Amino acid sequence: MPRRSPRSRRKSAGAKLPQKSRVRSAPGSSRPTGGTSATRGAHAKKGARGSAAAAKKTTRKQAVLAKRPARAKKFTAPDPVRVRALLEGLHELYPDAKCALDFRTPLELLIATILSAQCTDDRVNKVTPALFATYRDAAAFAAADQADLEKAIHSTGFFRNKAKAIREACADIVAKHGGQVPRTLEELTALRGVGRKTANVVLGNAYGIASGIVVDTHVGRLAHRLGLTDESDPVKVEFALMRLVPRESWTLFSHWLILHGRAVCNARKPLCSACPVSGHCPKLGVTVSA
Ligand code: SF4
Repeated sequence: MPRRSPRSRRKSAGAKLPQKSRVRSAPGSSRPTGGTSATRGAHAKKGARGSAAAAKKTTRKQAVLAKRPARAKKFTAPDPVRVRALLEGLHELYPDAKCALDFRTPLELLIATILSAQCTDDRVNKVTPALFATYRDAAAFAAADQADLEKAIHSTGFFRNKAKAIREACADIVAKHGGQVPRTLEELTALRGVGRKTANVVLGNAYGIASGIVVDTHVGRLAHRLGLTDESDPVKVEFALMRLVPRESWTLFSHWLILHGRAVCNARKPLCSACPVSGHCPKLGVTVSA
């Protein structure tokens, strides 16, 4: 074997030397364990940048969490004691609750209720005095000219459908009930253009007959927020409420919820912090409140 020169021996030995090891951080620490002051400085800068990035990430995460709606509370069967306290609270709050539509007879209430669909009660009350002065009974409404009736109720919206519904319902009242508005849910809902909600309004407020609970948009929304039902179909909501509320309070109950829905528990931002029945309300589905 040929002898190698000292230089070549040094060269090959150098090639076998392990590469200079990198300065490593201790586990769980961003600080280097050794190295020159220059490398320590570089690591310190890197560490500072790292913690700034981590802080930024946390802030972003917090912002995302803040925007996310609060986890929805789950519906559980309403406790009868809580429901009783809630009813007492609502009764105290709205002792003079009554139908907001102006009427003198069951027929006038029927017509006013048909007009109130997708319209405010105030607007309907502005239209009905002149309307009832022009058309004095069911026969007059049944014989009304469609265009004239549309003109008279124009400002309540959906005037074509409403005029048709009024004329058809009144034609049925004349033909089947001698011109008198019937007094049962079955007969009322059999009239063309009259649904369950309208029939309940007429029976409860004009005849004082508790046939059901009127479920409009306010009643449906509040029944859910108050944890009284998790149903969304208005008829199912009505039946659920009828099981919870004593029959003698059915008519008033819907007035209470309508008034409370308008004054306090509005659709967009309920005023929970000022709500007098807050203590009896699980606020289901409420993510933003004042
Ligand atoms: S506490 Fe809030 S959600 Fe419940 S009824 Fe009052 S305003 Fe509505």
